Amino acid sequence: MSKALGYAALTPTSPLAPLAFERRDPRANDVSIDILYCGVCHSDIHQARNEWGIAVYPLMPGHEIVGKVTAVGPAVRNYKVGDLVGVGCMVDSCQQCAACRKDLEQYCQEGPTMTYATPDRLDGTNTMGGYSDHIVVREEFVVRIPEGMDLAAAAPILCAGITTYSPLKHHGVGPGHKVGILGMGGLGHMGIKLAKAMGAEVTVFTRSAAKAGEARKQGADHVIVSTDAEQMAAAAGHFDFLLDTIPVQHDLNPYLQTLTFDGVHILVGLIEPIAPPVHAANLVLQRRVLAGSLIGGIAETQEVLDFCAEHGISCDIEMLDIQNINAAYERMIVGDVKYRFVIDMASLKA
Ligand code: NDP
Ligand code: ZN
Repeated sequence: MSKALGYAALTPTSPLAPLAFERRDPRANDVSIDILYCGVCHSDIHQARNEWGIAVYPLMPGHEIVGKVTAVGPAVRNYKVGDLVGVGCMVDSCQQCAACRKDLEQYCQEGPTMTYATPDRLDGTNTMGGYSDHIVVREEFVVRIPEGMDLAAAAPILCAGITTYSPLKHHGVGPGHKVGILGMGGLGHMGIKLAKAMGAEVTVFTRSAAKAGEARKQGADHVIVSTDAEQMAAAAGHFDFLLDTIPVQHDLNPYLQTLTFDGVHILVGLIEPIAPPVHAANLVLQRRVLAGSLIGGIAETQEVLDFCAEHGISCDIEMLDIQNINAAYERMIVGDVKYRFVIDMASLKA
């Protein structure tokens, strides 16, 4: 075992605070990684505060991890000491089921082992995430950071990037498609860049007119202020796809009406009941589809990193000392971040 230090929540209502704990020694197929940077995802807030009802404590968030390999087990083939690597939302899966065999570990039929707050498949201990100085992860769940990529700005690709890339790719988004991105936060701003790079015409739906100029700087072709009923009505029947990153319950009906026939509304922000209810007429009368999507597989996570490197896409980040993590959560809740906090893990030693 090795001594580790991180920031964790001890209860749903306690702020994150330093926690000393232990990481396992690398197993034969494990990679040990010193964490340099870790992005802050809205899921970290949902989990730290048990908003999904599945948290286990102490809960150490963090699943947008970039670091340097410090040790490898004897069976590791693809990584060596000194490599710059990433770890996203998962650290293990059964590797046998139909989903795992299709490189869709996120849909592992036994349930994937998430990077934090999930029992390890072998020793049953609760996984602890990337708000920490180092992590030990089986080789199959480690990805390579493309050469030359800014390491801090790469971190959010491990969740915000893959979570928006995977559904856009799965649904075949490309030239000629009109795509709406709902919510311009960490996921949303990556969704704009990725959908643009795939060749789509991109519109941002945001609550705040003040973000309109920003959205265009991100590459959006158009902006709709979602709180303006006239602007929403004017967009009726327009979009082929909507990618919905809004992290709280919201009325889907006005958005569904902006889809063309056969249009697809893809939920990534919600894993709670939809409220108010969806009026089935908004689906049935135009053969529209309401879909969902969870992160992406490991091969696809490498793919989106390489895609971003190739297209010069990077996340807009604000660097954070870990001591300020609780204030950062409050700022994220009111939408005051452009557009992803990334923890500089050097601050943990301060
Ligand atoms: P952020 O907080 O960075 O961004 C969310 C954005 O949604 C905000 O910037 C805001 O955009 C909009 N928004 C926030 N609150 C409201 C509200 N009350 N009503 C309407 N719009 C609102 O979050 P992330 O991008 O990190 O995460 C978004 C969601 O996606 C979270 O719920 C997260 O848990 C989930 N998620 C899901 C994954 C999956 O695999 N499916 C993976 C990762 C995250 P604006 O100000 O422009 O309106
Ligand atoms: Zn995330």
